[in-house]
Amino acid sequence: MKALVKLEKGVGHVELKTDWPKPAVKQGWVLVEVFGCGICGTDLHILEDTHKNWPPVVLGHEYTGRIVEVASDVTNWKVGDRVVCEQHTLACLTCDACRRGAIHLCQAKRSPGWGIDGAFADFVTLPANLLHKVPDGVPFLAAAVCEPTAICITGLDRVALQVGEKVLVVGPGPIGLITALLAKASGASSVTVIGRSSSKERLELAKKLGIKTYELKNGVNPIDELGDSFDVAIDSTGAGESLSLAVSMTRRLGRVLELGLANGPEVQFALNSAMTRSLAVHFSMSSEYSSWDRALAFMASGKYDPTKLTSVYSLDDWQSAFHDVESRKVVKAIITPKDAASLDQVK
Ligand SMILES: [Zn+2]
Ligand SMILES: [Zn+2]
Repeated sequence: MKALVKLEKGVGHVELKTDWPKPAVKQGWVLVEVFGCGICGTDLHILEDTHKNWPPVVLGHEYTGRIVEVASDVTNWKVGDRVVCEQHTLACLTCDACRRGAIHLCQAKRSPGWGIDGAFADFVTLPANLLHKVPDGVPFLAAAVCEPTAICITGLDRVALQVGEKVLVVGPGPIGLITALLAKASGASSVTVIGRSSSKERLELAKKLGIKTYELKNGVNPIDELGDSFDVAIDSTGAGESLSLAVSMTRRLGRVLELGLANGPEVQFALNSAMTRSLAVHFSMSSEYSSWDRALAFMASGKYDPTKLTSVYSLDDWQSAFHDVESRKVVKAIITPKDAASLDQVK
């Protein structure tokens, strides 16, 4: 089969193989024919070898597809089911986090796409216990955005967004814009996304989707123009200056959510600004179980449509897709090993 593989450690070493072995199904697992798989910032980091990975490994962890084979002991899934899958494969089930039910935070987990083989390929094997059914009516193109959506829902849970609140999002990348769409559909009275001029195209897309946008300008403090009374501010970037901006634009006793990973082990951050405002600052990593079903239900309701953030590329054209993500030309690139029209299937 075709597969985009990280062949060895180090910068690069990623190649599209046409003769990669089709994975075998083991007990408890299913074989899924991949319809779409999104490119995540993590994939770029694996390419650059700044994110952990276990080569040789097939990349791709934001996938959806159709079951084509089930192991003999799997009884609750059948061939033809459309699925997405939580990323918590090989969680140990014995550590403190696992026993609290937070398997997404298990230190031992090795997710498809970097820890075990992922889904920039024709087929991927997945454990039946982590699957979620894609509801009829939801196209594969939307389901391919389920994983980052679940991450954003898990984060929004932590700041307990209330109806009518004003929300600020720093960073118009995929996580920022998904969070903005979710907040808007979840009862926020206004959602404003802040970005740099290098993300102009992403800000323009956000505006088209009914989100307020603000482009940072040299020498202009956004607080002077947008105020500092947001109820909830979300940093999607992981940069210290962005988190500081989020903090300093939040009202007294407001909540701040960090959804980005920093480039290094430490960042500078406006601690006193958070202190004087008595803010609750939350960090949120990965995605909790129930957020997957809510992501899919929200898509099925029609209230949340992430397809507007997507651009589709064929697996053969993976290099253009990676390039367009890296240069921030597109928000969420979805790679398909099939033709683009197959992503429109809704049952
Ligand atoms: Zn990801
Ligand atoms: Zn564990």
